[in-house]
Amino acid sequence: MPIATVNPTTGQTLRTFDPLDARGIERCLADAAATAAAYRRTSFAERAELLTRAAALLEAETEDIARTMTTEMGKPLAAARAEAAKCAKAMRWYATRAEALLADEHPAPDDVRDAGAAAVRVAYRPLGVILAVMPWNFPLWQVVRFAAPALMAGNVGLLKHASNVPQTAVYLGGLFHRAGFPRGCFQTLLIGSAAVEGVLRDPRVAAATLTGSEPAGRAVASVAGDEVKKTVLELGGSDPFIVMPSADIDRAARTAVTARVQNNGQSCIAAKRFIVHTDVHDEFAERFTAGMRALTVGDPMEESTDVGPLATEAGRRDLEQLVDDAVRHGASVLCGGRRPPRHANGWFYEPTVLADVTPAMRIDQEEAFGPVATLYRVGSLDEAVERANDTPFGLSSNLWTRREKDVEQAARDLEAGGVFVNGMTASHPALPFGGVKRSGYGRELSGHGIREFCNITTVWRA
Ligand code: NAP
Repeated sequence: MPIATVNPTTGQTLRTFDPLDARGIERCLADAAATAAAYRRTSFAERAELLTRAAALLEAETEDIARTMTTEMGKPLAAARAEAAKCAKAMRWYATRAEALLADEHPAPDDVRDAGAAAVRVAYRPLGVILAVMPWNFPLWQVVRFAAPALMAGNVGLLKHASNVPQTAVYLGGLFHRAGFPRGCFQTLLIGSAAVEGVLRDPRVAAATLTGSEPAGRAVASVAGDEVKKTVLELGGSDPFIVMPSADIDRAARTAVTARVQNNGQSCIAAKRFIVHTDVHDEFAERFTAGMRALTVGDPMEESTDVGPLATEAGRRDLEQLVDDAVRHGASVLCGGRRPPRHANGWFYEPTVLADVTPAMRIDQEEAFGPVATLYRVGSLDEAVERANDTPFGLSSNLWTRREKDVEQAARDLEAGGVFVNGMTASHPALPFGGVKRSGYGRELSGHGIREFCNITTVWRA
């Protein structure tokens, strides 16, 4: 994949970039290693000051970077602005909380004595240089939710961003540098995916985090496993959205539309499979389909646009193939199911609802990374949970109900890293984020996220 900005709204290539050569990569690795040795000794207060400055810069530059993101990957401009604001918020959150989150721990006095010590403390120390392999769908947020905690913990970062968002990638490298972080603290490597293995195998790199598809995760985790290096993987999802008879159906249907088409349908935590109790199935399907049909598809730079183009031509082709396969195997198209005739140039796809979905269809087990929803009819919560868990993924999940018993059962039995009740899944700096099964492992955000790339060190004294 060439490293280039290709506007998905028009299909035009706007700018191409030469990948870093071997000497360039070596220079970045050397800078990162040299900086890591000094940066780990800085205080939380010093790091917090730099990160707060980065947040302020980002806030001041929101309009420009939002337009860059929309140009590179097609998200509606308002959503791009909101993404920048969310990043600044996460930076401030970690700037003010990191010291407490990484404070030394002191085992109970009885345990200290039993361990034969006069004193024991558990310290969270940085691991060193962390490689971050990131996707294009939230091109600022995915990076910042790694970088903010990593930098506050005293680590340094090397970013290999997706090849189709190079301008956002370059902006991020510059942002931390302009905020005053020492040279080498956070660098963007403009490299293709084939160059990741060499960087990861370099002894100066301590660990890696990858957000992206399952094949990419498997490739990076295999190399890291071979090198015995820690990884965090945030991979795909096919989140269930369960609607029970006691739910507020109108609110559930309206939220379902947003949950499915946020970011033009290209969010790992988008609700993708809508599993609805038979008593309310038809009413929900009617309201949900009406909502999906009413969305404005168009130029993401227009404030009135709800759904822009898919980010890549290959992404639209994959989505079309999933829908075509489902229709061939008997799915009914309640709305959409085609390219919008009014937008012939870019990589647009109409918001789509498929009913009568069965396990014979690929879309039943694969992730639909675009504005396509599948509907399932079930007779009980037991059946809904069984259906929800019948997927290789386990990122998040949604339940709509007014019954406390339903909530308890879902929170106990849904195989996912999150259970969101009467609302849609959203990430927040204070809440752990991540999945199980083929959605990956490890957690980002919250105290759990910042501790992932720490050396948890026992300091024992006689
Ligand atoms: P992708 O193709 O896996 O790309 C993600 C990153 O991995 C890019 O930087 C890509 O570089 C790199 N990459 C791809 N193959 C690689 C390999 N063999 N070795 C090393 N690096 C490799 O994913 P995407 O299409 O950009 O993003 C969509 C996927 O990400 C979806 O499955 C979505 O659910 C998932 N996602 C998950 C989360 C989460 O938090 N769980 C969040 C967002 C997205 P190139 O661009 O150079 O190929």
